[in-house]
Amino acid sequence: MIASTTRVYGLIGNPIEHSISPQIQNAAYGQMKLDAVYVCFKISCSAAQAVSSFHRLGVSGINVTIPYKTEVMPALDEVDPLAEQVGAVNTIKFAERVSGYNTDVSASMRSLREGLGTGTGGKTATIVGAGGAARAVAFGLAKERCGIIISNRTASRASSLRDEIREKTAWTDIEVVPYSTGELGGAISRSDILINATSVGMHPKTDESVVTADALHPELTVMDLVYNPPQTKLLRQAKGVGCRTASGLSMLVYQAVESIEIWTGGKAPVDLMLSEARRALREFGPDR
Ligand code: NAP
Repeated sequence: MIASTTRVYGLIGNPIEHSISPQIQNAAYGQMKLDAVYVCFKISCSAAQAVSSFHRLGVSGINVTIPYKTEVMPALDEVDPLAEQVGAVNTIKFAERVSGYNTDVSASMRSLREGLGTGTGGKTATIVGAGGAARAVAFGLAKERCGIIISNRTASRASSLRDEIREKTAWTDIEVVPYSTGELGGAISRSDILINATSVGMHPKTDESVVTADALHPELTVMDLVYNPPQTKLLRQAKGVGCRTASGLSMLVYQAVESIEIWTGGKAPVDLMLSEARRALREFGPDR
């Protein structure tokens, strides 16, 4: 029940209408018996103005999504070293000081480790994409000392990401290959892991995939960061070939779990949050 004591958490971003974070977070608060509520804020001011207003209004914490993950950073009193390195904050805690964190990196690694059945250190991963999600994954893999191959439609973005990771982490086992069927296929054939960090395959274009099934091999673990639908064409192709898989939906839930733990210090109910995420996606329409 909402009361005068209820703590407010939320999400800022734009667009934000299709977010399932309120369902995932509020289900967790109910189970944890927290006097708290989570809502979406589609802001029309600057990220700095939003952060300052939330702080003054007594909001307890916010998640940050596209396009504000970098823009919020100068408005914070302190930024966790990992978030600083990645250059993106997706979780803000309002206390005496305003602190920023990045839970996308550890969430992506947790989901990938689960799919892989082991750590990523010493393996080779091909990442398709070089946007915000690819950054989180690439910094996570560099931290775990996994060889990285990046392939992106806009080649210059892949090269910039490679150069930035080399400079900031001193991890040099990173190469870039052109986003063409042949080059990408060659990279996948010498990889243990394939990660789709593009929006290809996302609803409503659910019949698209970044590769054809013949580029996959059974020793590969395939992760798709797209979570809507939870079973993308790429993941179906991978299962058909006998690959292990890791889902974007579990990454989404793990970053929410970590946010709750940062905000409250409590242990979030992971299984309940996963089933709530699946239920929320099903409710958007019969084709999910
Ligand atoms: P972003 O920063 O806008 O980057 C989009 C990426 O997708 C870029 O690399 C872009 O290539 C590529 N791309 C877009 N359309 C393409 C196409 N038709 N063919 C080939 N490449 C294409 O977005 P983002 O934040 O990284 O998000 C990417 C995906 O990850 C989205 O589906 C998002 O929902 C998902 N995601 C999931 C989670 C999770 O928790 N599971 C978290 C964050 C994001 P160019 O550089 O050439 O434009």
